[in-house]
Amino acid sequence: MMTVQCCKCKRVRNGALWVAPDPAPEGPVSHTYCPSCYLESCLEFFSAEASRACSASAAALSQIIQDV
Ligand SMILES: [Zn+2]
Repeated sequence: MMTVQCCKCKRVRNGALWVAPDPAPEGPVSHTYCPSCYLESCLEFFSAEASRACSASAAALSQIIQDV
């Protein structure tokens, strides 16, 4: 049976639950994110995107101001 393990917190999926790997998973392991790490990664991604977008628009804005 394929073990599904979170690549971030290392918990393994046991049905609907994400539990500590005890014992350590044997055989093939598929890496993914558990729901909480997935959400965390999404938030990290979007906050990184948001700050990038902000600095890009700030640069664009200062360019517009200089052009005027
Ligand atoms: Zn996780």
